[in-house]
Amino acid sequence: MDDSTKKTNPVYSHTDTSKVNMSEEEWKKILPEDVYYIARKKGTEPAWSSPLETIKDKGTYYCAACGNALFVSDTKFESGCGWPSFYQPVSKGSVIYAPDHSYGMNRTEVMCGRCKAHLGHVFDDGPPPTGLRYCINGVVLDFKKAKEAEEKFNKEKKD
Ligand SMILES: [Zn+2]
Repeated sequence: MDDSTKKTNPVYSHTDTSKVNMSEEEWKKILPEDVYYIARKKGTEPAWSSPLETIKDKGTYYCAACGNALFVSDTKFESGCGWPSFYQPVSKGSVIYAPDHSYGMNRTEVMCGRCKAHLGHVFDDGPPPTGLRYCINGVVLDFKKAKEAEEKFNKEKKD
């Protein structure tokens, strides 16, 4: 999602932590179609379709619907499942959970803690230290590289 689409999203913020409660109709107006389909309709992107699946850059992953910080690159790992995978959310309240018995499976749904966007599922076959695998749709993730912070750090080191 580029910045021009974000301007039409009045709730998108990396700092505002107040809960978002909007009607489906309103969401449909402000979200790009692919984000709406996954975030609000609990859709799933095709495996291996997300460019975020393989990247190893340092940075933060935000909710594409509301801008809430969800995961950091330090907890990302290669799960081989075809979706961006993490072993831990950025904080306890950043995501919320719900039992999901759809498609005859017993899974745990992961949603954004701020706007309740559907993100993906969590499984208990992940790596240490948590043993969890958060299997997340890349479409609903907004990745921001930690480049600026890094450059500042490197500059300070040199000086
Ligand atoms: Zn959200």
